[in-house]
Amino acid sequence: MAKATKTIRQALHYPPQYAAYFVANQVLFNRVVAFYFDCIQAHEGLLALNNKEGLTALEKLTHGTGANPHPIMPLTDLAPDIPAIFRRAAINAALGSARAFSSSLKTWRARKQKHEAKQTRSGGKKKPFKERPPVPPRSWNKSAPFYAGIFRERHHHSLMLKVWTGSCWSWLKVHTFSRDLPEGFEMGSPSLVRIRDRWWLHTPIEKTFETPAKVVEQLTTAQTRICSVDLNLDHRVAVCSVQTVDGTILATSFIGNGAAVSGCRKQLLGRIARNRSQTGIIAENEQDNADLWAKIRHVDEQIAHLVSARIVQFASEHKASILVFEHLGNLQPEKGTYSRRSNSKRAYWMKGRMFRYAKYKAWQAGGIITSRVNPRNTSRECHRCHAAVIRYNQGHPVEGYTPGAALCLCPQCQMRDHADRNARLRIGQRLIERTQEPLKEKPHARSQRAKRESKDSGVGISQDAKRQMGPSLPAARRGDHANGDGTPQGRRRRMGAPLPDIASQLRVHFE
Ligand SMILES: [Zn+2]
Repeated sequence: MAKATKTIRQALHYPPQYAAYFVANQVLFNRVVAFYFDCIQAHEGLLALNNKEGLTALEKLTHGTGANPHPIMPLTDLAPDIPAIFRRAAINAALGSARAFSSSLKTWRARKQKHEAKQTRSGGKKKPFKERPPVPPRSWNKSAPFYAGIFRERHHHSLMLKVWTGSCWSWLKVHTFSRDLPEGFEMGSPSLVRIRDRWWLHTPIEKTFETPAKVVEQLTTAQTRICSVDLNLDHRVAVCSVQTVDGTILATSFIGNGAAVSGCRKQLLGRIARNRSQTGIIAENEQDNADLWAKIRHVDEQIAHLVSARIVQFASEHKASILVFEHLGNLQPEKGTYSRRSNSKRAYWMKGRMFRYAKYKAWQAGGIITSRVNPRNTSRECHRCHAAVIRYNQGHPVEGYTPGAALCLCPQCQMRDHADRNARLRIGQRLIERTQEPLKEKPHARSQRAKRESKDSGVGISQDAKRQMGPSLPAARRGDHANGDGTPQGRRRRMGAPLPDIASQLRVHFE
């Protein structure tokens, strides 16, 4: 079974004096966690046990009962009558931290040993191992969780929490702004989280579903539906269409208005540039135009969330089980004014963000797998015969390739279509081709070079390609090799500057 987890965040409504109680509760929780962390450090063998055994052993060490009247390190030294459930939550938190610390210490030791072995082998001048060892946490700032037993009467708009107020344990009633539990999810233990000066209730929720088959396996059945997504920088932010493996198109959706987003962002960036030119100097280490920057960040974040949610919604409405994107390629910064350059950079980052958000949202929507394909020439090839297309605007001569134009025509098979639609179909086909002709996306020398270049440029590396989590599959990873494959050109064209002699370029790589 596969799992999807997410967190529900609810703003709390409480009388003002409760804020101090919540602080006291969190402080106590962290003191208990720190106590148990030290306990575990003193008895390192505890980490060899599993969580349940570790918990029992730690309770025996610290908690006095009739059968165990004199524990070695009594918790009562710290604070009297801590509820058992509170103690257990703290023990679990401490065990988690201790395990994390011990494993980073272990890897550090391994690195040190490797370094020393290398030094003795090579002889000659010895370089000392400079990396510092990890240190245990100096301060603790964990949010206090509420396991079943210290919260009760959870209703739509309120719940009771057992909280240490600084002088006693008492049940406090807090009100929440409600949010419906999404279908099929189960609620975990909530925790009290402070965000600036407000307290929030975070509740993890979890859904289990049948593990989806790997992309390669799914593509062997003709009924599998693929949703291919083309992310643009211009008028349509995302264009998605659902197709079956045999190539039938079932639905298409155009999402967002990219021109409005980039216009709004460019205006804000322009205001920042003007403010800066009026100020003359900008203080070092101090954010200038903080409000405007915050606004830009929020707009980008909001749009990325909206668009990715819509993509996933569209895909699951049409029962697609795979989402296909293009790799992002490298960022080719535009020339021009400050606002223009920054705007294109941010639009590029937003595309990456939309992919990341769509990926986790798709997984949470019930195990839709996200995959990426090589972006090379997806908008330049005919989806029917793979020949180079003519791309033009309505009312203009039908010749050449105008980047960003709306229509396309294939000179070989007379296919006429929207250029965006053609591109999406190619994206979907790339994924299918991958299973049929595994050699097609093999990297070659050029791609390796492109990868190296992208490292120097710094900004444009497609990071998330390298650390794909959960839903990714070997098939998707294989595609990563093709990441650099011709990508710089592909992206440059997308962003406006035309390349000479496209047709001959195509020939070199595909024929
Ligand atoms: Zn054609």
